[in-house]
Amino acid sequence: IKPVHIIGGGMAGSEAAWQAANAGVPVILHEMRGVRGTDAHQTDNLAELVCSNSFRSDDHESNAVGVLHEEMRRANGLIIQTADAHQVPAGSALAVDREGFAEAVTAKLEAHPNVTIVREEIDGIPPEDWDSVIIATGPLTSIKLAEAIHAHTGEDDLAFFDAIAPIVYFDSIDMTKAWRQSRYDKPGPGGDTAAYINCPLDEDQYNAFLDALIEAPKTEFKDWEKDTPYFEGCLPIEVMAERGRETLRFGPMKPVGLTNPHQPDIKAHAIVQLRQDNALGTLWNMVGFQTKLKYGAQTDIFRMIPGLEKAEFARLGGIHRNTFLNSPKLLDDQLRMKSLPRLRFAGQVTGVEGYVESAGMGLLAGRFAAAERLGKPLAPPPETTALGSLVRHITGGHLEGKASFQPMNVNFGLFPDIADFPKHGPDGKRLRGKDKGRAKKRAQAVRALEDFDAWLKAEAVVPAE
Ligand code: FAD
Repeated sequence: IKPVHIIGGGMAGSEAAWQAANAGVPVILHEMRGVRGTDAHQTDNLAELVCSNSFRSDDHESNAVGVLHEEMRRANGLIIQTADAHQVPAGSALAVDREGFAEAVTAKLEAHPNVTIVREEIDGIPPEDWDSVIIATGPLTSIKLAEAIHAHTGEDDLAFFDAIAPIVYFDSIDMTKAWRQSRYDKPGPGGDTAAYINCPLDEDQYNAFLDALIEAPKTEFKDWEKDTPYFEGCLPIEVMAERGRETLRFGPMKPVGLTNPHQPDIKAHAIVQLRQDNALGTLWNMVGFQTKLKYGAQTDIFRMIPGLEKAEFARLGGIHRNTFLNSPKLLDDQLRMKSLPRLRFAGQVTGVEGYVESAGMGLLAGRFAAAERLGKPLAPPPETTALGSLVRHITGGHLEGKASFQPMNVNFGLFPDIADFPKHGPDGKRLRGKDKGRAKKRAQAVRALEDFDAWLKAEAVVPAE
């Protein structure tokens, strides 16, 4: 059997190698650390954690990343099983002894009879006789390879940084204060004149909001991030706020072309707009609100906006050095590049965010590549599962392609809605607010794991070649 080549031995590449190798397919894993470092990695170990040692919540009954952990466990995931074996106390989170973890992943892959590890940088589009390649080079993909991918995909389809605006769950927006309308009722594709959700601020509210923004604690850029030439296109809101008290009112918070149906006679002083972020309509991003504010400050300050007092955030804003593809346009649901299908992508470079999500995309890419090699194509898991919802998000579920495609953590907003969940508590009272939300998440978690088991089982009964 010809090998699958995997470029990058981080979270995604290590997992992909394990999955393909366990399916009986030889793997050549090309990792540059050992001959060339990155700005963030400190060691030559595979699957090094570049920052926090946490894999976040391990609660698979009501937390989306916990569900993702559990799916990966059931699929014999190398990253999650090694994390389990090297965990350190962290309450309901799964945190690991980072050295023990990375050393164990490295040792397992080194010992695997189907895996060959080569320490080298791949500095261009791989040669044509590599007919099955997984590129898992991460947010800090080496420059030469990034430039080669950039040249292949075109200007707009490979980003070198992310500038993420916060994303809010639709359910948590108070629509008695907010309303739906496009500026000047301008119809979008499909004729929709109510594409945005608008939140109005009066003058006092705007001033208080501005003061809070200016005073809030910010995250510092790392030295090597300071040179990234991105600022003018997408200034963080707090930088705009510092430039002058009217800058935001003439920028993302301009109040023109909109009429508040709840108070038609009062003109808003400023307006925050949210745009639908996923095809399901469960997630909405705050337009133009990319920010380097610390996470705690973001929730406090954004909840000052009328209509968002009880906002729950699927993700908070951020700006980082990050290489990632415009996957909704470029990749198919097998994570293959449509224009060059011998290349698959996995990990953060596909537009997922986080250690676990990156490893999750590695798990799928490894299985897809092995299945293709063995002549038994494998469908992606259903979108009701954590892995399926992520793959759908990056390859088709995201609404608008490039314009607002930004890396995403797994969250229940990516899962299809569920109608069948308990509506009453043990005391017989009707569940409301957060209690209702929790009941719904629990039902989504149960459905995800059942559907994931069925997917694994269906895969297992396909006869081997
Ligand atoms: P990586 O784990 O980075 O693996 C990519 C591998 O490819 C690396 O080993 C690299 O050496 C190799 N490589 C790159 N180019 C080449 C090439 N041309 N040839 C051969 N090899 C190559 N996520 C979290 O969940 N928690 C955090 O705390 C966190 N902190 C982060 C901090 C920083 C500074 C960064 C940049 C990201 C952080 N992330 C964090 C985000 C992300 O989840 C991790 O970066 C994660 O490791 C991504 O997994 P990956 O496999 O896609 O990439």
